[in-house]
Amino acid sequence: MHLTDDQLNEYLDDESSEHDAIKTHLDSCAECAARFSALQTLFAKLDSLPDTALSTNLAARFLPDRKQIPQLPRWLTLTISLQAVGALIALALAAPFVSMLLPQAPSLTAWLFEIQTLWIAGLDAISNYQLPIAQLPTYPVEISTLFIALAIVSVFWIFGNGFLLRNQRK
Ligand SMILES: [Zn+2]
Repeated sequence: MHLTDDQLNEYLDDESSEHDAIKTHLDSCAECAARFSALQTLFAKLDSLPDTALSTNLAARFLPDRKQIPQLPRWLTLTISLQAVGALIALALAAPFVSMLLPQAPSLTAWLFEIQTLWIAGLDAISNYQLPIAQLPTYPVEISTLFIALAIVSVFWIFGNGFLLRNQRK
């Protein structure tokens, strides 16, 4: 059985526990002796190489650039800004538009007053240990307004995400 590369390496480094057995094998086996000789030559060459300094600082490439960390890519910030603006515009436009289409819709002030009244009633009920569930009125108009506004926002959101994905594929 011939010597393994590990055995030869250990023998070359003079760290082998089977030093004598390997020496005996090398003396009698031309093939392993040739491999050992090649290994010796290789390591001799490696040792003779000068320690040249790297022309570029490799570590710098992996260090985080403090300037770039808090900044999103420019196209991403643009997309997010457009989405936010679009969503705000949609929200601002949707409510009065739907109120116009539905004349019976109460104004924002009346709606807020209603909420306030409900809140006070709720607080009274809590203080009286009564649940105000039975007093809760339904708000079909506000709910439809909310849904329309959400739909418009969603459309902007989908367009924004489409823009985002298209940029990511570049
Ligand atoms: Zn051998």
